[in-house]
Amino acid sequence: MNSLENKVVWVTGAGRGIGKAIAVAFGKEKTMLALSSRTANEIKSVSESINKNGGTACPFPCDVSSEADMNSTVKKIEKTLGDVNILVNNAGVARFMPLVETSMDDWDRMININLKGAFLCTKAVLPTMIEQKEGHIVNIVSVAGIQPFPNASGYCASKYGMMGLSAVTREEAREHNVKVTAILPGAVDTPIWNNIEGDFDHSKMMLPEDIAQTVILACKQPKKTLIEDIIIRPITGNL
Ligand code: NAP
Repeated sequence: MNSLENKVVWVTGAGRGIGKAIAVAFGKEKTMLALSSRTANEIKSVSESINKNGGTACPFPCDVSSEADMNSTVKKIEKTLGDVNILVNNAGVARFMPLVETSMDDWDRMININLKGAFLCTKAVLPTMIEQKEGHIVNIVSVAGIQPFPNASGYCASKYGMMGLSAVTREEAREHNVKVTAILPGAVDTPIWNNIEGDFDHSKMMLPEDIAQTVILACKQPKKTLIEDIIIRPITGNL
C-alpha cells in the first residue's frame, strides 16, 4: 500500500456526513487537507478537530456549482498547501419527489451541485495532475448512479451523469498516470436524510466512516493499480 503522507487532498462537502468522515480519515494519514463546503463554520470546526489530532487541514469555503468560485478556490489551495494530488468530489444534495412534482429549481440544484460541481472541480485540478503525471480523482457517486429509484429523477440523473463523467475522465487521464475512482454507496446514515420524506430505518444504514475507509483503500493502491468502481451497500441491501 502507498503512503499518503504529505499529499495535498481536497475534499468537497467536508462539513458533515460522508465528506467529514473522509476528511478525518485522510487527516490520520498525515495528508495536507483542503476542506470545502458553503457553510464556513462547519469546515472550520472539522479542520480544527483534525489539526488538534495532529493532522493538517484548512477550510476553503466555496460553492462547487460556481465556476468562478472553483477557479479562485483552487488557486487559494495551491498557494496555501500546494498543487492538489487527490480530489474527492463528494459535495452533493438530494431531493426526492415524483418527476411531475419536480420543480426546475429542484432539478437545477441537483444537476448543478452533484454533476456540474464534480465537473468544475475536476477541470480545475486535472491540468496540473496531467502535467505532474500523477493524481487521483475520487467521485462519491451513489448506487443511484447505476440503479433507478422512483421519485429520484433529478438525483438519479445527476448520479448517472457522474458515472459518465467518471468513466470519460478515467479514459482521458489514464495515459497521464492520473487515476479516477467512482465510489457507489447505498444508504449511509448522514444529515442528507433529514430532508427526505419517508420512513427509513437508520439502524440498517452504513456509517460515513465505512465509506471513508473505501476511499483510503482506493487511494493507497500501488502506483500501477487502479480501483475503478466500488459498490458498497448495507448488508440488508437497499432500504
Ligand atoms: P450531507 O450530510 O448532506 O453533506 C453534504 C455536504 O455537501 C455538506 O458538507 C454540504 O455543505 C456540502 N455541499 C452541498 N452543496 C454544496 C455546494 N454547492 N458547494 C459545496 N459544498 C456543498 O450529505 P452526505 O450524505 O454526506 O452525502 C455526501 C455525498 O455522498 C453526496 O454526493 C451524496 O449524494 C452521496 N451519497 C450519500 C448517500 C447517503 O445515503 N448519505 C448514499 C450515496 C451517496 P453545505 O450545505 O454547507 O454547502
